[in-house]
Amino acid sequence: MITIEHIGELRGAVAEARARGARIGFVPTMGYLHDGHLALVERARRGNDLVVVSIFVNPTQFAPGEDFAAYPRDPEGDAVKLAAAGCDLLYLPLQEEIYPEGFATYVNVEGIATRYEGAHRPTHFRGVATVVATFFSIVAPDEAVFGQKDAQQVAVVRRMTRDLHFPTIIVTIPTMREADGLAMSSRNVYLSADDRREALSIHRALRAAAAAIDEGAGVPAAQEAMRRTLSDAIAVDYADVINAETFQPAVGTDEPLLAVFAGRVGRTRLIDNMPLGPA
Ligand code: AMP
Repeated sequence: MITIEHIGELRGAVAEARARGARIGFVPTMGYLHDGHLALVERARRGNDLVVVSIFVNPTQFAPGEDFAAYPRDPEGDAVKLAAAGCDLLYLPLQEEIYPEGFATYVNVEGIATRYEGAHRPTHFRGVATVVATFFSIVAPDEAVFGQKDAQQVAVVRRMTRDLHFPTIIVTIPTMREADGLAMSSRNVYLSADDRREALSIHRALRAAAAAIDEGAGVPAAQEAMRRTLSDAIAVDYADVINAETFQPAVGTDEPLLAVFAGRVGRTRLIDNMPLGPA
């Protein structure tokens, strides 16, 4: 595995691989890697000849007061894990190259990016779409791999990819969970032992919604089952059953359904989701 920091060098390495006929797979991350991230890398490894992984804690997707400065970082540990998972090229972007002096161009995805996470973090998806578009422009991957854990992020990236005609195929892999059901997240490191226990009710709540739909209940009943199961210790931002494609509230069970959760456990904001109904 080689590590590259400069855009020019990265473009050169990718161009050289492409000239050899290599198919390029790309996995963007913010680092502090866990097995969920590594599953993305393994998926990219299976379908591509050159696997590029970026680690960049992207300032524009954090609002003032969020955890940008405190976001956990472990560049050495991440590099060891990535080499073992089959990453060929580790890209560590420099903030001054991604956001040069005078930077003034943002990608705003309307509609889907304004609801749920977009409503609670109004500048978040603008930062995500902007940095992903920048990376797509630099790396020009054939395929980019994202996690279902951030379902709305994937939906926003898919919309942006279609609208801007990036030739990149967007692949999604299922959410990786700890043995007790908690979705893996770099932010889990913030949880106290008590928080960690309360947080288990999130997965239970999503499963309750799934069980309700499987038993033939309607959307309101599934939503109610979910909300009832969440620990009272959690400050819920939303716990809803929505249309998995539009991110609008779901009406009937004939739609593609997704149970979505966001809320604060102690001082840590967590998100999770689960597709409902027949796969
Ligand atoms: P992050 O480093 O949190 O920005 O995440 C980078 C990528 O890893 C995104 O595509 C996430 O959706 C994905 N990811 C994060 N957690 C998980 C998980 N538990 N399972 C699968 N993918 C994940």
